[in-house]
Amino acid sequence: MSTAQSQATATQSSIPLDDLRTCIHCGLCTSACPTYLKLGSELDSPRGRIYLMSAVQQGRIGWTGEVVKHLDLCLECRACETACPSGVPYGRLLEAARDEIAKAYPRPWRERLLLKVFRDTLFPYPARLRLALWPVRIAGGLIRKLSGILPDELGRMLELLPQELPDERRYRLPPVVPAAGERRYRVALLTGCVGSVLFARANWATARVLAHNGCEVVIPQDQGCCGALHLHTGASETAREFARRNLKAFPLDDVDAIIVNAAGCGSTLKEYGDMLAGDPAAGPVAERLSAKTKDISEFLSQIDLKPMTHPVPKTVAYHDACHLAHGQGIRKEPRELLAQVPGLRLVELRDAEICCGSAGIYNILQPEMAERLLDDKVDAILATGAEVVATGNPGCLMQIAKGLAGRGGKVQVVHPIEILAQAYGEALP
Ligand code: SF4
Ligand code: SF4
Repeated sequence: MSTAQSQATATQSSIPLDDLRTCIHCGLCTSACPTYLKLGSELDSPRGRIYLMSAVQQGRIGWTGEVVKHLDLCLECRACETACPSGVPYGRLLEAARDEIAKAYPRPWRERLLLKVFRDTLFPYPARLRLALWPVRIAGGLIRKLSGILPDELGRMLELLPQELPDERRYRLPPVVPAAGERRYRVALLTGCVGSVLFARANWATARVLAHNGCEVVIPQDQGCCGALHLHTGASETAREFARRNLKAFPLDDVDAIIVNAAGCGSTLKEYGDMLAGDPAAGPVAERLSAKTKDISEFLSQIDLKPMTHPVPKTVAYHDACHLAHGQGIRKEPRELLAQVPGLRLVELRDAEICCGSAGIYNILQPEMAERLLDDKVDAILATGAEVVATGNPGCLMQIAKGLAGRGGKVQVVHPIEILAQAYGEALP
């Protein structure tokens, strides 16, 4: 690269220099990084990726295919943030780097098409997703049999879908779910885009458990995608547009909390304040929305919980979704809630905090690494002898269910809130 080009890259880079400088290159993060653990290569570790970002920031190298490859392989699981003694905001650095890559690096047409189809067209829009799933709903068996002749990415998408798509009509929520008995709180529920189509049951269970605990649950009808997929794949401006829409949709002044049951979405809502910090009009509202956002397990742990009275006599293993454990620091709350369920035996999972390989659409774009991580996760689950594995994120639910289905499919995969709903006497169809 010429000196002129180098300088242009250095001055144009939007990767925050102050964030890069917090890295003291100690390497304590490497042993927490799933890709480093698998490949043993420094450039596929957090420290190595930070070196690459610094080199681009300083204009010493450009966004070449080789550099992009190492950043693409990052799951953005943020396990490195948990391990880092220096407080490096790795997720923020990676998001800035991916934004730059999206502008500076011409991706092959197939990758661009995949982003266009899955990220830009389908996943953030429940109505389109429903339409796209309609053929699977009526001829799922046949389509799955034909998956071998479909493009690889479509085949992988089909493999991730639940064997039976849920009947959304059974779990449809009204705009307001009244509290059972005296109203103690009024909360708003983010139903999610993929969540509202494929995990309507978890949303229904969330509303029921909240209602049992004296919450009136409002479902804002104008809510949209949280923006996580775009934020993590180099389209942060679109993510900010989604955030602005949600600022208008959620009645901040009328609710005690905004409840989220999907780890990735909750983590993103909690970042709205940072994402919109430069916007004088939206920034302060975004701060307030972030401050009111609570994962369902976090909220239930902070209120005076009504006792669960219906036994769920199962052995349950809990998997930490990355954006719950590393993104939001929520680990003990789901475990403590599950431990209160009568008859339930909670068992710990080996490497519970290591990513399952789902990571948004990573498992579609980076199938090899995603499969290796999934294999480890399934081994760890089967080693516990658990009948049920519980995890609080739609992506993990689909990924782990797919992995277990490939190994006999005897272990049930559920959101923890579904178990809690049963413990409150709700019959989950
Ligand atoms: S990211 Fe943190 S843990 Fe990793 S090398 Fe830098 S300072 Fe050390
Ligand atoms: S986010 Fe996860 S995969 Fe990426 S560098 Fe950090 S630990 Fe490794």
